[in-house]
Amino acid sequence: MAIRNVRIQGDPVLEKKCREVKEMTPRIRALIGDMFDTMYEENGVGLAAPQVGILKRIVVIDTGEDPHVLINPVIEETDGEQRGYEGCLSLPGKSGIVTRPNYVRVRAMDETMKEYVLEGTELLARAICHECDHLEGVMYTKLVEGRIYDNSELPEEEE
Ligand code: ZN
Repeated sequence: MAIRNVRIQGDPVLEKKCREVKEMTPRIRALIGDMFDTMYEENGVGLAAPQVGILKRIVVIDTGEDPHVLINPVIEETDGEQRGYEGCLSLPGKSGIVTRPNYVRVRAMDETMKEYVLEGTELLARAICHECDHLEGVMYTKLVEGRIYDNSELPEEEE
């Protein structure tokens, strides 16, 4: 496994729609391992394949409880609302306020291409929405209320 180069906002790959994964291959398995390595190395809670330059519908998330792989994720239900600071490894050192659902249910496939359902609230719900947006070529900066902050400007209490 290896750390991959994270693409930074302005790179056109971050604005493209990703393709569905049809079958698991050794290459994709290696990509998923590298995505976890890269996310942990950069202290992120989620990473989408386009952020390492691959236009496939693959997301990894770990908010500190369990690692999740979401292949071809489809958000089936959302509920409630949360408003808080959000950041992205493709825009390091910056944050902005984004309103997201407080509950998300997503259907996806795991690394064995078995379908499963993941439910999340709070940070996990936010991460699912943020990473699924990447698969549509959407950065959180499109959804920010107000301006983008430098992380050094942020108040200590987030959310
Ligand atoms: Zn992001």
